[in-house]
Amino acid sequence: MNIHQLDINHLKSLETPFYHYDMELLANTLDAAKKAADKRGFHLHYALKANFNDRILELIQSKGYGADCVSGNEVQKSIDMGFPASQITFAGVGKSDKEIILALEQQIFAFNVESIQELLIIDELAGKLGVKANISLRINPNVDAHTHHYITTGLDENKFGVPNSELEKAASVLRSCEHVNLLGLHFHVGSQITDMNVFKSLCVKVNEWKNWFEERGTTIKVLNVGGGLGVDYQQPDENPMPDFEAYFDVFDKFLERNPNQEVHFELGRALVAQSGTLVSQVLYTKSGIKKNFLILDAGMTELMRPALYQAYHKIEKLGSSNQEELLNYDVVGPICESSDCFGKEVTLPISERGDLIAIRTAGAYGEVMASRYNLRDEIRYVYG
Ligand SMILES: *Cc1c(COP(=O)(O)O)cnc(C)c1O
Repeated sequence: MNIHQLDINHLKSLETPFYHYDMELLANTLDAAKKAADKRGFHLHYALKANFNDRILELIQSKGYGADCVSGNEVQKSIDMGFPASQITFAGVGKSDKEIILALEQQIFAFNVESIQELLIIDELAGKLGVKANISLRINPNVDAHTHHYITTGLDENKFGVPNSELEKAASVLRSCEHVNLLGLHFHVGSQITDMNVFKSLCVKVNEWKNWFEERGTTIKVLNVGGGLGVDYQQPDENPMPDFEAYFDVFDKFLERNPNQEVHFELGRALVAQSGTLVSQVLYTKSGIKKNFLILDAGMTELMRPALYQAYHKIEKLGSSNQEELLNYDVVGPICESSDCFGKEVTLPISERGDLIAIRTAGAYGEVMASRYNLRDEIRYVYG
C-alpha cells in the first residue's frame, strides 16, 4: 500500500528508521514493464544493484525477469534467488579473476566485456576451465545522458566500455580468442534519464555499431541497450510508474534489427524506486538565526543519494492534515558530516519531536547503499 494509506499509529509503533516497500506498486510496475516489453519481443533483465532485498528479488524473479549483475556476489545472489543462469549478465569495469571464474562455472548468459585486456583474461580463464564464454562487447557510444555527471556513463571521458578508437583492435583480438563467443553488443549510457531523445540518440549509435560489425562479417545476435530509464522524484504519487510504453516504443521505432536479433534491457531504478519510502522520526527541532532544522533519526547511513550526488527526494510529514501551518526546514540526519542533509528549505507542516517524516522514491540505490558508518544499526524494512 502507498505510505499515506497506512495507519499512522501502526507506523508510529514501529522502530524507526526503516524502509517501507509498497509491494503492490512494485508488482504493478513489474507487470507494466514486462507487458510493454513482451509486446515488442524485448528481453528484460533487472539490475540487481538498484535493490537486492530478498523479498523484492523473489517477486522480480517470479515475474520472469533476467538478472543484470555487476559483481560476482550479485551473480551468486541471482542464482541463489532462482534466476536461471541463462538469463544472467555480468557487467563491470573491474571484474576480478575470482568473479570471472564464478560466472564461467555458472555458465551465465553473457559477460558484458569492458576492455580488450578483460577480453583476453576471460579467454584465458575460460580456456583453463575448458568452457566457452559468451560475451557482449560494451561499447562506449559517446552519448550524453543529460543527467547528473556522477551517473553519466556513456561519454568518451567515462571509464566504462571499450572506447570507439579501440573497437577495430577489439574486433581483431576477438577473432583470435578461442574460448570466447561474441553474442552481441552492450551499451549503457547513464541513469535517471527522462528525456526520450537520449534513447533515440542511443539507438542511432547502436545501429551504427551493429552495421560496423556486420559489415566485417560478425554476427550480432544480441543488442543490449542497458538501463537508465528515470522516475519522477518530484511527484511520486502523480507518477508512480514511468511510461514504459513510450520508452520501449523509442527502441521499437528507432533500433534497426534483423529478424533473429534479440533486444535486451537492464532496468534498475525504473522498476523499484517508487516502491520504497524511508520512514524516519523527528528527534529534535532547532531554530537557528537564519534557519529551522528538523533533525531526523535517519541519515546518509540509511539513504546516501542526497549526500553522494545531491539527489532530490520528496520529503513529507506523515499523518498531517492540509490545514496545518507551514514552515521551511533544513531536514538533516544525525551523522557527523555536513553533507548529511536530505533537503534544504523544505516546506513542511510545523513538526515536532516524534513526528514521522517520509522520504519518498527511495526504493532504488537506497537500502543497498546503507552503511554502518558511526556503527549505526543494521537497516530495517517492512513490506506492505
Ligand atoms: C547500473 C546499471 C544498470 C541499471 O541502471 P538504472 O539506471 O538503475 O536503470 C544497467 N546496466 C548497467 C551495466 C549498469 O551498470
